[in-house]
Amino acid sequence: MAEKTLFTRIIDGEIPGSFVYQDEHVIAIRDINPAAPVHVLVIPRKPIPSLAELEEGDLELAGRILLAIRKVAEQEGLSRGYRVVVNTGKEGNQTVPHLHFHVMGGRQLSGHGTA
Ligand code: AMP
Repeated sequence: MAEKTLFTRIIDGEIPGSFVYQDEHVIAIRDINPAAPVHVLVIPRKPIPSLAELEEGDLELAGRILLAIRKVAEQEGLSRGYRVVVNTGKEGNQTVPHLHFHVMGGRQLSGHGTA
């Protein structure tokens, strides 16, 4: 069996995570190295390696992820706005090979960078 990703290990309780949301398909944890006052990672339980590996069969899951992002943003009080970033692959500087969406906010963000 393929080695578990860091995020699967957090999902399975093998590594601690600061959970802010979870449902049947998706979890959300605080980023260990936050780039903004609110920095949450929204992660599907299914270990899709990156956005580049998303398939037609993941269509419903993709919608569930977006809805979870909206719920997390509301829960975190980001009514003035926020940024969602999906680093993808080597040149996208993705470091954890398990699809995840960075949700950042809580201050005025500028430009198009990560935070
Ligand atoms: P990326 O570089 O887009 O793959 O994002 C990976 C993110 O995971 C980084 O922002 C890290 O700070 C974050 N991270 C790494 N280890 C942990 C952990 N144990 N708990 C929470 N976030 C983590």
